[in-house]
Amino acid sequence: IHKLTTDESSEYVVLDSVTRKNLELTQTIEGSKSPTLFSTLNNCASTMGSRCLRRWINNPLQNNHKVMLRQRAISAILQSIHDEIGNFDTHMSVEAIRGYLSGIPDIERISTRITLKSVRPRELASLRDTLARIPEIIKLCQAIKGSEKISEISSLLRVDTQIYDTLKSAIADEPSVLIRDGNVIADGYNHGLDELRSMANDSGRYLSELEVREKERTSITNLRVEYNRVHGFFIEVPRSQADKVPIEYQRRQTLKNVERFITPELKEWEDKILSAKERSLALEKQLYDQLIDRLQEFTQPLYTCANSLAELDVLVCLAEHARQHSWVAPQLEDKPCIYIEKGRHPVVELTIEQFTPNSCNIDQNRSLLLITGPNMGGKSTYMRQTALIAILARIGSFVPADNAVIGSLDRIFTRIGAADDLAGGRSTFMMEMNETSVILSASTPNSLVLMDEVGRGTSTYDGLALAWSIAHRIVTHNKALTMFATHYFELTQLPNQLPQVANVHLAAAETSTGIAFLHEVKEGPASRSYGIQVAQRAGLPNAVIRNASKQLLRLESQTSNNSQLDLFNEALISVENNIEQEEQAGLLKNITEAIEALDPDDLSPREALDALYELRKLIS
Ligand code: ATP
Repeated sequence: IHKLTTDESSEYVVLDSVTRKNLELTQTIEGSKSPTLFSTLNNCASTMGSRCLRRWINNPLQNNHKVMLRQRAISAILQSIHDEIGNFDTHMSVEAIRGYLSGIPDIERISTRITLKSVRPRELASLRDTLARIPEIIKLCQAIKGSEKISEISSLLRVDTQIYDTLKSAIADEPSVLIRDGNVIADGYNHGLDELRSMANDSGRYLSELEVREKERTSITNLRVEYNRVHGFFIEVPRSQADKVPIEYQRRQTLKNVERFITPELKEWEDKILSAKERSLALEKQLYDQLIDRLQEFTQPLYTCANSLAELDVLVCLAEHARQHSWVAPQLEDKPCIYIEKGRHPVVELTIEQFTPNSCNIDQNRSLLLITGPNMGGKSTYMRQTALIAILARIGSFVPADNAVIGSLDRIFTRIGAADDLAGGRSTFMMEMNETSVILSASTPNSLVLMDEVGRGTSTYDGLALAWSIAHRIVTHNKALTMFATHYFELTQLPNQLPQVANVHLAAAETSTGIAFLHEVKEGPASRSYGIQVAQRAGLPNAVIRNASKQLLRLESQTSNNSQLDLFNEALISVENNIEQEEQAGLLKNITEAIEALDPDDLSPREALDALYELRKLIS
């Protein structure tokens, strides 16, 4: 933690963990890493970029100005790519930026390790090499014209040259992995270290001179000066000639064929050399620690630089994705609305051969889309793509559509799929209702709500009644922008009572070979779910399918005059309303009578208080 800043939740479009999971932002519902929105978009050149992209996806922005800064940067990069493709003589700035970014280490992590004083020599060397390349990246950014954000990034990339100069003079070109191995501090950085090193390095010359000298002096031609870790330096003589050694040779070790000796001169020299090595390593460690202490004051600008590089990486990555897949810049609005023309699901469009684009219009006058259609028709895909397009627009990205207008959003809620939490004591239906309850208590007119098959986890009538009542409440009370997919066709009558509700359906066609899914969203309600046909495709035994078809016919003939399903019966609703009105009138009468029976002039303060309590009791 470098500093504390306040993070207002009102800055972000809030996505709770259920929504993140359901929309498969960074993890699929099964828990794998791909295919998700993040894995599809992440072609960042650096790990810092990937981390930043993940952060952006999880935290879409509410503020249109901030979003537009990013969006305009992407437009400027695209314009630059366009210029490059059109004119091969111009410098390939975007490709070059990617080239530079792909080689850079994780400066954010390195800065953290500097703060924690655990940074390794090679990390400092790679930081130094990266800082050397930053002026090139700045120059390339300057070639991308017309974006405030890119200009800001290039100015934030300008880190104090002292950091580079310090690292350049202090760290060896190719330092050892660990400081304890030495050869980390560059030659010329510290005079004392240079002297100790040259002392240690001169040992080779001294030893060969000694060997030549002793050979001459003793006339032992096979005499050698050697070193090993256990015994240090010694003079080795064949045993046959050991009697020729001078008097000052002291025996150190006797082997089968050789004798090893030490002389006072060699011992003195050995002490000097070994202590020079030791001292050089100790001094190097001390200098390294001092260097890290000095770098502490630069960690903040390094973080800023790392963050700017990461943002640049994400912007280039999003621009490249937009170019490759023909995404467009969405328009942002201040009022809650979503208008999408020929939208596509950013992940599914890349995984299937031919994706059918679909449009979507939701705003305050048409706030709930009731989506019906066959199983496998594409309802969930349609709802999720709408939410993903909204998220992409709110992170500043282009979106997979022909045209899109995305209004202000405070939160995205989802109630999709079946799951249980047995350890937490919640059954599948309980989970479904818990999530719905959160939506009903927290969604606002600025929220986007996706509800997929609410009420399916219980009996048909209970589920239908709940689904109707939930949809009704969202439209009349929460007023959130809602996409409500259901197989309860009875709900398609809801627009008759609530003009804010609109029916759309996913089209399917019955062919001689069975049902064909068109995956096309059309206005109006669907009439069937084709569940049995889908079950047949899934390989259920023929006997089961035949039996189910018979049961379906029987049930359909019964329910046509079954009043229980008639939840939208106007008469029933008006009876409910009448009962409510009568109750209200009775209450008012009782209160009026109680007040009339009171004479304020006649009451002691105590009696007045008691009377007030009585009135309270009446209304509660
Ligand atoms: P169910 O009611 O059974 O849950 P559904 O209507 O929610 O089904 P989805 O799960 O959205 O259907 O879609 C089923 C499959 O149809 C998807 O896995 C996808 O392969 C394909 N699909 C969905 N939408 C489209 C589309 N617009 N274009 C092409 N294929 C699509």
